[in-house]
Amino acid sequence: MNIDYGMLRTLHRLLRQIADVRERIDKGPKKVKLVQQNELKFQQTVDAAKETLTQTKMAADAKQLQLGEREATIEKLKGNLNTCDSNKEFQLLKDRIAADEQANSVLSDEILELLERIDVLEEKLTTAKVNHEKAQAETKTIRTNVSAELEKLNRELAQLNVDLEEQEKLIPTDLKVDYRRLVEKKGEDALTDTDAETCGYCNQRFTTQMAADLLMKKAMFCKGCGCLLYPVANHPASK
Ligand SMILES: [Zn+2]
Repeated sequence: MNIDYGMLRTLHRLLRQIADVRERIDKGPKKVKLVQQNELKFQQTVDAAKETLTQTKMAADAKQLQLGEREATIEKLKGNLNTCDSNKEFQLLKDRIAADEQANSVLSDEILELLERIDVLEEKLTTAKVNHEKAQAETKTIRTNVSAELEKLNRELAQLNVDLEEQEKLIPTDLKVDYRRLVEKKGEDALTDTDAETCGYCNQRFTTQMAADLLMKKAMFCKGCGCLLYPVANHPASK
C-alpha cells in the first residue's frame, strides 16, 4: 500500500492548527476571569475604604457629642460657683471646672485629628472609586474583545474542521482505524515528520529496514511513541 505522505503532512498541519485555535479559544474566558478578579479586588478596596470612613465619622460624631455634653456640664458648674457656701467649696468647684476644661481640650484635639483623618480617608475612597471604575471599564473592553475574537476563532475552527474532514477522506481505508485511534489518544501528536533517521516526535532511531520502508512509501508507525510517520519535505519519498 502506497501512502501519499503529502496528504499525511497536510493532515498533521490541520490537526496542529485545530489544536492551536482550540487553545486560543480556551484562553478567552481565562482572560475575562482575570480582569474580573482584578475588578473584584478594587471593589473590595472601595468597600473597605467606605467602611473605615463610616467608622471614623461615627467615632468623630460620638466624641463631638461627648464634648457638647461636657461643655454643658462645665457651664452648669460655672453657674454653681455663685452659690458656693464656703471658700473651700468654691475652690474645689473651680478645680473641677479646670480639670474638665483640660479634659475637653484633649477631646477637642482628638476630634481635630479624626476630622483630618476623615479628609484623608475621603481622598482614599475617591481614588479607590476611580480605580474600580477603570477596572470595570477594562473588564468591559476585554469582554468585548474576547467575544469578537471568539467569534473569529470559532469560524476559523469550523473551516479547519471542514478541511480536516475533507483531508481525512483521502486516508486509505486500511489506515483509517489506526489513524482514528491515534488521533483520539494523542490529538495533534498522532503524526510526526522524520528525516528517515529518527522519529521527529520521540527521537527513536530508525532501522535500515524502516528507512527502506519509508522510501517504499509504506504506512509507518514509530516503535517508540507510536506516531504515524511521514518524511520531511525534502526527503526523496516526499516527491
Ligand atoms: Zn516516535
